[in-house]
Amino acid sequence: MGVTAVVGANWGDEGKGKITDYLASSADYVVRFQGGSNAGHTILNEWGKFALHLLPSGIFYQHVQNVIGPGVAVNLQGLVQELDNLARKRVPAPRLLIADRAQIVLPVHVLLDAAEEERLGFEQFGSTRSGIAPFYADKALKLGIQVADLANKPHLLTRIQQNLVLKNVLLQHVYNLPPIDAEELTNDLWNHARIIAPYVSDVSLVLQQALQRKSRIVLEGQLGALRDPDHGIYPFTTSSPTLAGFASVGAGTPAHTITRIIAVTKAYSTCVGAGPFVTELPPEQAQVLRERGGDAGEYGATTGRPRRIGWFDCVATKYGAAIQGATEVALTNLDVLSYLNEIPIATAYQIDGQNITHFPNTRALTRAVPVLEVMPGWRSDITQARRYSELPQKARQYVERLETLIDMPIRLISVGPHREQILYKGS
Ligand code: GDP
Repeated sequence: MGVTAVVGANWGDEGKGKITDYLASSADYVVRFQGGSNAGHTILNEWGKFALHLLPSGIFYQHVQNVIGPGVAVNLQGLVQELDNLARKRVPAPRLLIADRAQIVLPVHVLLDAAEEERLGFEQFGSTRSGIAPFYADKALKLGIQVADLANKPHLLTRIQQNLVLKNVLLQHVYNLPPIDAEELTNDLWNHARIIAPYVSDVSLVLQQALQRKSRIVLEGQLGALRDPDHGIYPFTTSSPTLAGFASVGAGTPAHTITRIIAVTKAYSTCVGAGPFVTELPPEQAQVLRERGGDAGEYGATTGRPRRIGWFDCVATKYGAAIQGATEVALTNLDVLSYLNEIPIATAYQIDGQNITHFPNTRALTRAVPVLEVMPGWRSDITQARRYSELPQKARQYVERLETLIDMPIRLISVGPHREQILYKGS
């Protein structure tokens, strides 16, 4: 049994948390491999509703070893809050390991992220202001603080002092903000580090051993293919690779071990933040779908920002699933469309009078208008369906049309936010 990667085919918020939670029931390990607390995975279970930001989505299962991999941006304060929240809701103590090679999001990263978005004004990228871009910039500059650096206070202070030299110049002279005191920051990190210390481990070694034992490993991606810095809608992307191809790097599992790649997509499109979004609906139409979407409307799990809403985009999803190297697709939120008489889907883009079916670069994308095909709606509640054959014929017709247009088998179909609201579609 190989490794499974669960990744997004679109702009993020596709419902990866729900799919990972479902797969975790028969997994030994669930591993986060990139990103930080800038996005949230929503999970509903017997303990309540959770928006997991850093914790892997297997955290609710006692048989699952959850791992925060070296590629993740660890916000210590956020992580401690998430662990506290689990304890408050009486979730059994989680089995968690944090990579000693993962790096720490510093408060100064968060400060700089927000200050830069302010400076950009109307040109801003729609950052969640969680410090992710400055964090990954520091990693590339080799100024980052690894979890392992937290074990020795004098060493940590030296690394922090190095890190702050240029940032304090920027804070004071570009953004008009007070400088950060290295000792204060070190003390703060030191205190938080004591809380996470019991979880820290060489997870690469742990996963190598797990692979030798043929353990079942699920790698959990954050955001989606179109937010990948190399293959997405740059510069409206995130700052770490969101592709399954990177999962082996960010987790520490060799590339050839990943044999199943599930690209998750919603039955319609949603997008938080800025950037071209070809099938976007006008505000009034969007609002109707937004209120019905997800488990409590389409609002960002991290920021609460209303998600932009559009029809299913076959061009973007075919590209997203292909660039993920998907072996199958999971379609979520199909139940949300049950109120519609007719459901448009974008089968192509028109750019400068020409129809195309490949996903173009960001510059061209800003000129694209969707070519729509209209599918009949099924107009009945599908949330109780547990087999594909129990779906109304028109719902199956919708799924199968998408399958043809994105050229990828849809295997899992989610018909509600709860764990059991899922069905498997054979070939
Ligand atoms: P993720 O970051 O990819 O895990 O996605 P989010 O958690 O940010 O957003 C997905 C939203 O859809 C959440 O509100 C989920 O509870 C919800 N959800 C997932 N699958 C379904 C589904 O099949 N139907 C409905 N109605 N909601 C779903």
